[in-house]
Amino acid sequence: MSFASLGLSDPIVRAVTERGYTIPTPIQRQAIPAVLAGGDLLAGAQTGTGKTAGFALPILHRLSTSKPITGGRAPIRALILTPTRELAAQIEESVREYGKYLKLNSMVMFGGVGIQPQIQQLRNRVDILVATPGRLLDHAGQRTVDLSRIEVLVLDEADRMLDMGFIHDIKKVLALLPRQRQNLLFSATSSDEIRTLADSLLNRPALIEVARRNAPAEAVTHQVHLVDRERKRELLAHLIRANRWQQVLVFTRTKHGANRLSEQLTRGGIAALAIHGNKSQSARTHALAEFKNGALPVLVATDIAARGLDIVDLPHVVNFELPNVPEDYVHRIGRTGRAGATGVAVSLVCVDEHKLLADIEKVIKRSLPREVEPGFEPDPRIKAEPIPNGRNRSPMPMGRPAQGRSAAPARAEPGRSSHPRTQTPSWRGATHPRPSADRGNLRRPA
Ligand code: AMP
Repeated sequence: MSFASLGLSDPIVRAVTERGYTIPTPIQRQAIPAVLAGGDLLAGAQTGTGKTAGFALPILHRLSTSKPITGGRAPIRALILTPTRELAAQIEESVREYGKYLKLNSMVMFGGVGIQPQIQQLRNRVDILVATPGRLLDHAGQRTVDLSRIEVLVLDEADRMLDMGFIHDIKKVLALLPRQRQNLLFSATSSDEIRTLADSLLNRPALIEVARRNAPAEAVTHQVHLVDRERKRELLAHLIRANRWQQVLVFTRTKHGANRLSEQLTRGGIAALAIHGNKSQSARTHALAEFKNGALPVLVATDIAARGLDIVDLPHVVNFELPNVPEDYVHRIGRTGRAGATGVAVSLVCVDEHKLLADIEKVIKRSLPREVEPGFEPDPRIKAEPIPNGRNRSPMPMGRPAQGRSAAPARAEPGRSSHPRTQTPSWRGATHPRPSADRGNLRRPA
């Protein structure tokens, strides 16, 4: 199976070949023909499956082989909505690269940076717009963007967008689009809210569901180090030095914790930067670039800041604190051990977190062996303390946190969205699928 055999044009095949892709991933094998066929799509796929090319390539093909539906000034024809700034930037970069041999222009738009350069860019031709909802609505309010001739809409990481309270913004954006259009909805997980959104948005969609490229359990070694709350940083520094780790993504529960840890590590001689919603866009971009190119050994991130980032195939992921939501453990460790590489997921667990650990073991359906690093034996006299926002303390209701436009995507943080998510999406009953003849070779949901 090649990209050409999926029906993509030569310039697109050439671009992906140069990018090093030879074989389409399972989501690409299914999504590309479905999107080329012009119908709506509901896809259950996580970051790491190759989903970006799964929608970007057929969109590029369709736009480059057809003229805008109506004449006049060249309109924006495809809109890709994403929950976070980083994801928007990554997707637009991919779109640009996949479309480098086509005469199509793309643009990325997100908040936290000046609006004027974006207004300037919108005066030029833009065929494909990748945006976070808040800034897009700012532009719509100022009438600096015209969405009336959108032919294809993509909602990427729709579950994250809902988690982050974007449903109202999404609805406002939908109201600005023409009725006649193709809709593609991607979500890693399924929930009642996703099903409701899919039902209202999609017209007899093709249904696709794929697993991660590698199930985490296959390629990842899980380590649990029992340690005292106050000695975690010391243990982390010890593990980094003793094992000569070169590239470690460390997760903390809070923005404040991420800042403090990165500063402490740096003071102790291990260069680290934090990435979270309170950092300026340029600081985040800088930290991510340094980490990706190997110049920065430690990146400390909160869950939401790291979500959707294309930092994959990492050798080491450390849970400095266990996540409040057990499913986030799977998201976190999904960053290591991809594509056949082996990775290590290390969790530093103190006495407060035993309940969280048990919850995680339930979700991943295996028990994790506990280890104690010599010299870091936990003090049995230390008593457990409640974890702010932990499930063992105050479970959040299933409803959305009250957030309006003020909740810029990158500013949302984990404690605000602890609604339980299922790891394996099930789209059954999500919407009204097309009759099987229309779905071609698409796999029906189990
Ligand atoms: P995504 O799930 O879209 O974020 O993609 C995850 C990673 O897989 C990115 O680094 C892509 O560049 C890479 N990728 C996507 N499609 C392919 C492919 N067909 N072959 C190899 N790598 C791919």
